[in-house]
Amino acid sequence: MIEFRKVSKVYPGGTVGLNNIDLKIEPGEFVVIVGLSGAGKSTLLRSINRLHEITSGEIFISGKSITSAEGRQLRVMRRGIGMIFQSFNLVKRSTVLRNVLAGRVGYRSTFRTLLGLFPKHDMDLAFGALKRVNMLEKAYQRADQLSGGQQQRVSIARALAQEATIILADEPVASLDPLTTRQVMDDLQRINREMGITTVVNLHYIDLAREYATRIIGVRAGEIVFDGTAAEATDDV
Ligand code: ADP
Ligand code: ADP
Repeated sequence: MIEFRKVSKVYPGGTVGLNNIDLKIEPGEFVVIVGLSGAGKSTLLRSINRLHEITSGEIFISGKSITSAEGRQLRVMRRGIGMIFQSFNLVKRSTVLRNVLAGRVGYRSTFRTLLGLFPKHDMDLAFGALKRVNMLEKAYQRADQLSGGQQQRVSIARALAQEATIILADEPVASLDPLTTRQVMDDLQRINREMGITTVVNLHYIDLAREYATRIIGVRAGEIVFDGTAAEATDDV
């Protein structure tokens, strides 16, 4: 599903983000990437959907190189990958529904959508996604009126509405309290199990990783230093 072949990322200035990574993630896995701040978790995750360019090597999504993809092909590949951020990245003044519809590429600024007229298919996907994360009753509320946990559930719904088969979550619970953290992780796990969506999550905490991951990858100084099951992961991976 996701394959790294000898992937390196060097930032301008010479900092090594990733050092010659080989990695294969199979469909339906729930992978948690753990490591200290600065280890390269975020660099790894952002390489997958080409949020930034890698320096060398190649990354494949379902057998196709995203590294060499261009134009329409790249857009289609990216649409299949939903991204969730620590800071939610919602349009604050827009409604929940519009934020979720933003996952449907190309509908943001036509005359019809300015009037709030979205194709039925998109509306069905958006409402279906909101239902899955238990946010249907908030559809017409403004995003900035929601709690952090609710905003994160909306960003999960946005990924679902774009019919992503992969979800990448970069420290999705870092700004949430313990209870809300659990709710968001539960949502990600449920969606992974029910829909088979391949999920890759960056986390600070090994305890949380052990609880949710089917596989844990430990990263240090841009290299993979651990790759195994939750049961095999010790405190210092
Ligand atoms: P993590 O997500 O594990 O905290 P990052 O992937 O953000 O780690 O960072 C890995 C390394 O790359 C760190 O040394 C960090 O300082 C560096 N780095 C990250 N982003 C940039 C950037 N935009 N420019 C230069 N160095 C960066
Ligand atoms: P969650 O179920 O995500 O944990 P909370 O318990 O944090 O939600 O929030 C409870 C209620 O308070 C929610 O209905 C939410 O809409 C509201 N709320 C939380 N934070 C804010 C905020 N900053 N502005 C407006 N309403 C908020």
